[in-house]
Amino acid sequence: MPQYPREEIALHFIETPTVFPVGPVNVYLYPGPPVTLFDAGTNTQEAFEALNNGLAAEGVLLADIDQVILTHHHLDHIGLVRRIKEASGARILAHREVPARLPSITNETVLRKQLKYLLAELGAPQTMAEEVIRQRLSLLNLMDEIEIDEVFEDGAGIGPFTAHFRPGHSSTDCIFTHAPQNWAVTGDHLIHRVTPNPLLRWNPRLEARERSLVLYYESLLKTRDLEISWCFAGHGAPFHDHRAAIDSTIQHIERRGERTLNALPPEGDTPYEMTLRLFPHPRKDSFYYCLSAVTGYLDFLEMRGKVALDISGGITRYIPVSPSA
Ligand SMILES: [Zn+2]
Repeated sequence: MPQYPREEIALHFIETPTVFPVGPVNVYLYPGPPVTLFDAGTNTQEAFEALNNGLAAEGVLLADIDQVILTHHHLDHIGLVRRIKEASGARILAHREVPARLPSITNETVLRKQLKYLLAELGAPQTMAEEVIRQRLSLLNLMDEIEIDEVFEDGAGIGPFTAHFRPGHSSTDCIFTHAPQNWAVTGDHLIHRVTPNPLLRWNPRLEARERSLVLYYESLLKTRDLEISWCFAGHGAPFHDHRAAIDSTIQHIERRGERTLNALPPEGDTPYEMTLRLFPHPRKDSFYYCLSAVTGYLDFLEMRGKVALDISGGITRYIPVSPSA
């Protein structure tokens, strides 16, 4: 781990295991007062023990926790919320989008309805929905009912922290900057050397698909403008120079956008056709991730004015805009 100045920054890093390919997830302890955790690991016994051991190493008991602040609503970050609350009575704080978005990962009826619309618009067969639902339902044992005690908005002050809403990686991501030291808990919005693959998402307020990668790109630009000393991410070691990290992620997005544009035929494609073009032999369990990525890059190209949309019969085609047009 790079050497951040531990004697100056009162944030303790607790690594907890997950069952996901992403590997361990970080929980951060801020000694307060109030005694604060950022995120809550995965709902497994192994993660619970790792959390308790990490707290004990700092002389803190689970019962001492006053509040848990969530960076976003993904299962590897919120799993132990209920157990922590039961042991401590801690207040659970999250951005106001979290309660609105939880049903889309926990409620099968909501998930089914949203997938139906998403897949239809992208020209994908409805049979794909079953595979996605199967995958999601297999994870529900990691999800306890959770209640958010207090929601906050973009720009809210929480003690020495300011919350910054940064949707993209998920629909609820926030980062938290600490004043006056300018370090930040960046959750999964900013992870060193990782460009996330924002998944297809339905926005229940807009009743429309959310352009996840475009949102992510816009959020990166906002974070780039902040003054941040050290970044404490949801995964991996602390890092500094957030602008270099953001610039390399933006370059990665630009390159993949360019490759997607080069592969698009003159008559255009639906996102589903384009995914089959780029990933001709997809694994059944990863096709949805490929479709999410390709759709994200097509959205990005549309934002840049490089492709135009042709919507007919509820299906969207993306057509390259010739430079002379
Ligand atoms: Zn994560």
